[in-house]
Amino acid sequence: HPDAPADAALHGDPAKMQISDEVAIRIAGMNKWYGSFHVLRDIDLTVHRGERIVICGPSGSGKSTLIRCINRLEEHQSGDIIVDGTELNSDLKNVDKIRSEVGMCFQHFNLFPHLTILENCTLAPIWVRKTPRKEAEETAMHFLRKVKIPEQADKYPGQLSGGQQQRVAIARSLCMRPRIMLFDEPTSALDPEMIKEVLDTMIELAEEGMTMLCVTHEMGFAQAVANRVIFMDQGQIVEQNEPHEFFRNPRSERTKLFLSQIL
Ligand code: ADP
Ligand code: MG
Repeated sequence: HPDAPADAALHGDPAKMQISDEVAIRIAGMNKWYGSFHVLRDIDLTVHRGERIVICGPSGSGKSTLIRCINRLEEHQSGDIIVDGTELNSDLKNVDKIRSEVGMCFQHFNLFPHLTILENCTLAPIWVRKTPRKEAEETAMHFLRKVKIPEQADKYPGQLSGGQQQRVAIARSLCMRPRIMLFDEPTSALDPEMIKEVLDTMIELAEEGMTMLCVTHEMGFAQAVANRVIFMDQGQIVEQNEPHEFFRNPRSERTKLFLSQIL
């Protein structure tokens, strides 16, 4: 399956895949501890608008923690995280502002099981954004068509396949009109035949210019869609490069070892 999305992306319109000079996320000298465990060490990372970054690395290297720090699902202890010009700090107004611009999609889709697909997609727009119901439903249907499951709108999550549920989770995020999307292993809980449909949805988002940070081990996706691949190990960014060079000429021994294990 890694080849199929690659083709789709390579045939995308390059003009749509431009990266701007504008900074979407700036992380500088950031550290995080869980108790006495130093989980993220001196993280420096600047993400420009329109970038599509794939983060990979061994299990336990801090990938999820890094992603979760960006919308304050985890709190960092030192250094700066600035999203869209807003500093992530103890000011809850800033946290809210950043969360409203950042969408997130996890390995487990976290849909509300007792709500229909449509209701899952309209809940936050109606209650958080105060969007009128009719407008929220129109927006939800727009994004459900985009992820190619509008006909599932009145079903419940349990009636959908894993791949369909993950696409609902993506649509639900998009309904909040995020400027940045974070993905944490969105395909790793899916059966192989469903991985492609989710990756295709992500490729489409990338082609439309969405700024994306994706933790994934789908290296076909990384090669096709990412403009930058970041390798993490033991809480540090060990190496980063554009995908072709990253895969062809990994510089550190740790990266080489990792790639030899997954490719
Ligand atoms: P990855 O996503 O790369 O697998 P994580 O960010 O999930 O890594 O975890 C990094 C390290 O932090 C691991 O050693 C993990 O056990 C530890 N860790 C993750 N979450 C917590 C937590 N809430 N409390 C304590 N340790 C944690
Ligand atoms: Mg993880």
